[in-house]
Amino acid sequence: MAFVDDLRTVLPPDQVIAPAPDALLTDWFGRRGHADVLVRPRTTEEVAAALTMAGERRVAVVPVGGNTGLVGGTLLATAGPSMALSLAGLTECEVDAAGSTALVGAGVTVADLHAAAAAADLTYGVDLASRDSATVGGTIATNAGGIHVCAYGTTRSQVLGLEVVLADGSVLSDLRGLPKDNTGYALRDLVIGSEGTLAVITRARLRLHPAPARRLLLAAPCDTLLDCVALGRACGRAAPLLSCECVDTASWEAAAVALSQRDPLAGAPGTYRALVEIDVGSRGPAAVLTEMAPTLELLPDVAVAEAGADRAALWRLREGQAEWWNLVAAQDSGAELFKFDITLPLADLDAAFTPVAGLLAEEPAVRRWGVFGHVFEGSLHLQFTASPQPDLEERILTLVSAAGGSLSAEHGVGRDKAGYLHLRRSPPELAAMRSVKDALDPGGILNPGVILP
Ligand SMILES: Cc1cc2nc3c(=O)[nH]c(=O)nc-3n(C[C@H](O)[C@H](O)[C@H](O)COP(=O)(O)OP(=O)(O)OC[C@H]3O[C@@H](n4cnc5c(N)ncnc54)[C@H](O)[C@@H]3O)c2cc1C
Repeated sequence: MAFVDDLRTVLPPDQVIAPAPDALLTDWFGRRGHADVLVRPRTTEEVAAALTMAGERRVAVVPVGGNTGLVGGTLLATAGPSMALSLAGLTECEVDAAGSTALVGAGVTVADLHAAAAAADLTYGVDLASRDSATVGGTIATNAGGIHVCAYGTTRSQVLGLEVVLADGSVLSDLRGLPKDNTGYALRDLVIGSEGTLAVITRARLRLHPAPARRLLLAAPCDTLLDCVALGRACGRAAPLLSCECVDTASWEAAAVALSQRDPLAGAPGTYRALVEIDVGSRGPAAVLTEMAPTLELLPDVAVAEAGADRAALWRLREGQAEWWNLVAAQDSGAELFKFDITLPLADLDAAFTPVAGLLAEEPAVRRWGVFGHVFEGSLHLQFTASPQPDLEERILTLVSAAGGSLSAEHGVGRDKAGYLHLRRSPPELAAMRSVKDALDPGGILNPGVILP
């Protein structure tokens, strides 16, 4: 292919691999995308060279980070020429301890950024179960949330500066991270959450926070989703809140069995298990637990863990949920696994969730279903196995929309949810998004089919 030969004249030949290997084009569910060639740049200049050539030749480009995205964002499917651009080779990671920031390449994993921050007694505000593979570039491109949004906000709140390459190969770089800077359109904010459709992220200046001094994790049974939130609020009044998560009891107990793990809440009543982590700081767990006695007296079955194996085991029952549902899908022969990442209005969380739960409970095609997620923000991951049903997704997302919720809390729109974007965005909003896309990527080469169908 002439395009591949030409790429080898502007990039080191060993960084241009044709055909693109299947492993890199396969997502976490085992679904496979397509690209004629894989390019592995190591510098921003190499990313720019690849994009300049792709722009001139109208080659579709899919940026790839850790491939842990859950909405088909990396599953390029186009009849024309195509290129997968892996950012894994951009691995710079410099912590500025005095300024509490880090200058990080797009290919650095979230786990490696955490390790670098911890060495300076700092922490990065975003953490998620896919931390060992998910990259800084991918998490910015999807505006990832994760388990600490209640403490530090989403990825958007961590980004102080960005370097990106546009579809024509031009580089926009502002990595200074000035605390105040009102100079025109916030291009950085447009790129955050744009899922590889407006620009390729190469580097970022990220905010870091003081590392929590001493963590205390509580697991407790709760009757409702809002009870989980209320527990998080009560704990947050006693000490800074780090996480407030939930899992439905049946999924929690089934994961404990599947993972051969002891369940400290086994047999306790309640529809949900709440997992709440706080930073007890220098006061220590005993003083904070004493202060929380009135709350804890109402929760006789609460389990408490500090650092070490007990804490890790409790977190595993929450973070192992995605993996456990993949196992369920493998067991339910003839059924597909459906995953939804919805937000519902917090004030009416249980009332808003009831129609969705009712549909799943009554729909004959559904075999098993469960829910877990970042309950403090009304951000719920619904999972179910069902025999294929053409309109089931739409019926669920229509209920979510009618309740005033969103079809994507944190995973993005990708290719999977692009056809439903109208349920969340009005025609004028969709038209404005289309104008932005056409202005920044007039040839439509960047991740076609993602977000805007
Ligand atoms: C077990 C598990 C748990 C998860 N938990 C969470 C969670 O709690 N919260 C959450 O938000 N998500 C979660 N996710 C989803 C996923 O990890 C995030 O969406 C993550 O941000 C994807 O990062 P990645 O590097 O793997 O990106 P990829 O999957 O490689 O790409 C995701 C999207 O970003 C684009 N992209 C990637 N890199 C760049 C770049 N440098 N420039 C421009 N575009 C780019 C891709 O084209 C694609 O559209 C989870 C996934 C798994 C498997």
